[in-house]
Amino acid sequence: MKIFLAFALLFGFASAQLELHFIDVGQGDSILIRSPSGQSVLYDGGRSQDVPLEYLRRIGVKSLDLVVASHADADHIGGLSATIRAYHPRFFMDNELPHTTQTYEDLLLAVQEAGSQVIAPTARRIGLGDAALQVIPPPGDEGLDSNNNSVGLVVSYGEFRAALTGDAEAPEFGWWQANVPGLLSDVDVYKSAHHGSENGDSAASMAVWQPETIVISVGEGNTYGHPEPETLALYEGAGAEVYRTDQSGTVVVTATADGRYTVNAEPSSAPAVVPTEPLETNPEQSAPLDPSGEDKDCGDFSSQAEAQAFYEAAGPGDPHGLDSEGDGVACESL
Ligand SMILES: [Zn+2]
Repeated sequence: MKIFLAFALLFGFASAQLELHFIDVGQGDSILIRSPSGQSVLYDGGRSQDVPLEYLRRIGVKSLDLVVASHADADHIGGLSATIRAYHPRFFMDNELPHTTQTYEDLLLAVQEAGSQVIAPTARRIGLGDAALQVIPPPGDEGLDSNNNSVGLVVSYGEFRAALTGDAEAPEFGWWQANVPGLLSDVDVYKSAHHGSENGDSAASMAVWQPETIVISVGEGNTYGHPEPETLALYEGAGAEVYRTDQSGTVVVTATADGRYTVNAEPSSAPAVVPTEPLETNPEQSAPLDPSGEDKDCGDFSSQAEAQAFYEAAGPGDPHGLDSEGDGVACESL
């Protein structure tokens, strides 16, 4: 049950609270969970090394008990190494699938240096005082892509429940329904799967989670077109109130054990407009993505930042083929 923030402030709830901070990391995910008894858990760290670390310091997080990497894509783990090096979390969990990017190798090195104990992403329950985390295990199937091996979490505190499912798409959700159906049930707050991508949530996932509030962690003007209108329409159809980090910045949910919670942001008011028929495209009229028409490759840039800026300006579809890994980072070799 959601209550109005003003009401909460007026009566000044003194009781213990669970906090979920959907940190504005641009295009990516990073969620801080603070339990009523003082434990802190970081689930993903966005792409930038500085953003989650600065946020944690700014709000006065003293220690991290657990860091969970949902999966090894750069928009989820890029910011974890610096945070792990600074906070030396007691425990670390990821999906345990091999991954060869430098970002992931640096993450593993940071975990090793920090002396964090690595725990397996099995269907375990992790107590956080009066609150708890239920791990929704990844399939661990290398035949599925990285997104579909995301470690999921259900956060609970008394009557309140929230679900975080990384970038899980229909294949992983189907695996969960077949293999761990007992871990899936309705929640109050839900993190949009895969940043509101069309292949993230579905009628099936909405029917299971039945969220009242959905937070989409998404970067303003991202080149993926997230969140997609079809997904916004799906959420609207499910009767959920939607909050977006690209519109509101960091979204903080504060919950009490009786299931009441507040959200520190305005819900997204943008109407979900879904084209009823395919948009007509006229090749002669559509503007070229790169007005200069010149094909660029990574050798044409003096730095990764320069390549990244060009890549982002070139619009969707990576017309110059600068992002060979398809992870949103151009010319990682620079
Ligand atoms: Zn992602």
